[in-house]
Amino acid sequence: MTPGAKASESRPGEHAPVTPDWTCGSCGDDWPCATKRRQLLDEYQVDRASLSVYLGSCLAAATQDLRAAPVSSLQDRFIGWVPRGPRTF
Ligand SMILES: [Zn+2]
Repeated sequence: MTPGAKASESRPGEHAPVTPDWTCGSCGDDWPCATKRRQLLDEYQVDRASLSVYLGSCLAAATQDLRAAPVSSLQDRFIGWVPRGPRTF
């Protein structure tokens, strides 16, 4: 494999979602995979509200794409993993 051979939107290690299946483009797990969750927490550690907004928009899109999946399980998958901080809304 030649690094940077093609200019792609998703780079290796980015763990971006692949729609409409919402699997991880890097490791193939259900998105957000464990690595992506860690990256997101790191990225949004000082702005958990923005993380919730971002995940909410992903959930909304995934709900459209994954019509066969129960909404409650999608909510668990996209939002339920976010640890609740000492401060809530
Ligand atoms: Zn991944």
